[in-house]
Amino acid sequence: MLATLALAPHALLSQPLAVGRHAVPGQTRSAVLMAERTPLIAGNWKMNTDLASAVELAKAVADASAKATDVDVAVCVPAPFLIPVKEAIKDSKVGVGAQDCYFEDAGAYTGEISTSMLKSVGTDYVVTGHSERRAIFGDDDEAVNKKTLKVLAEGLKAILCIGELKEERESGETFNVCDTQLTKGLAGVSAEQMADVVIAYEPVWAIGTGLTATPAMAQETHAYIRSWFVDNYSQEVADKVVIQYGGSVKADNVDELMACPDIDGALVGGASLQADGFSRIINFEK
Ligand code: PEP
Repeated sequence: MLATLALAPHALLSQPLAVGRHAVPGQTRSAVLMAERTPLIAGNWKMNTDLASAVELAKAVADASAKATDVDVAVCVPAPFLIPVKEAIKDSKVGVGAQDCYFEDAGAYTGEISTSMLKSVGTDYVVTGHSERRAIFGDDDEAVNKKTLKVLAEGLKAILCIGELKEERESGETFNVCDTQLTKGLAGVSAEQMADVVIAYEPVWAIGTGLTATPAMAQETHAYIRSWFVDNYSQEVADKVVIQYGGSVKADNVDELMACPDIDGALVGGASLQADGFSRIINFEK
């Protein structure tokens, strides 16, 4: 069973989840499955940088990506910097992402950004359901679903974020939370469309806190998420879906996380703002 609420964060992190009906697979990833999934390391710059520092950082990421093999790389940047960042990375493999969107086509939605606007400036990825959008801006599962569907209809790739709160982990609700967020967030998304969906599992208690799930804890939940796709889509979709881990990923913990068989990349917040650290993350040990 999980720790109680009274436990300190480090104790929380040492507690494995009780495994339900989904067995956790072994730690070896088959060559076939590895070949089917190219990991995605994506930086989430959040509301940071200005024009000059955004371009400088983007160029550094582009340089670092040149020697990174068998990995996709993206930077999810503040909306005003999509165009200059796209220009800065144009000769590289780095994709550019937006951190959110609105699900309506156009109209009187002051402050919002449509998917067609994002597409018109060359956006590749759109993050949906980030926990900060959920917690601060009130994005519920229905809104996350509408945004995800709109991103896919536009022909863009969605990075759908899911993950449990600290109290939900402590009360053994992690898998239920993932089930609900996947069921509602992906309502109406077809198996074909899943080719353009990346799942980012981000335990909320690990985001921006310096707390990281142990590789075993992360792997356990990733294995559950992959099994969810077997149950709700197909083995083929489950084998192909890229599931990123997010939550205080850094240069010094990326290797052990990426060694887990069901962790297919990382969504990186704070550490993506430092060129050196993010370069090391992109170039994780294979
Ligand atoms: C995030 O913003 O998605 C994130 C995981 O942040 P951090 O790496 O800072 O925890």
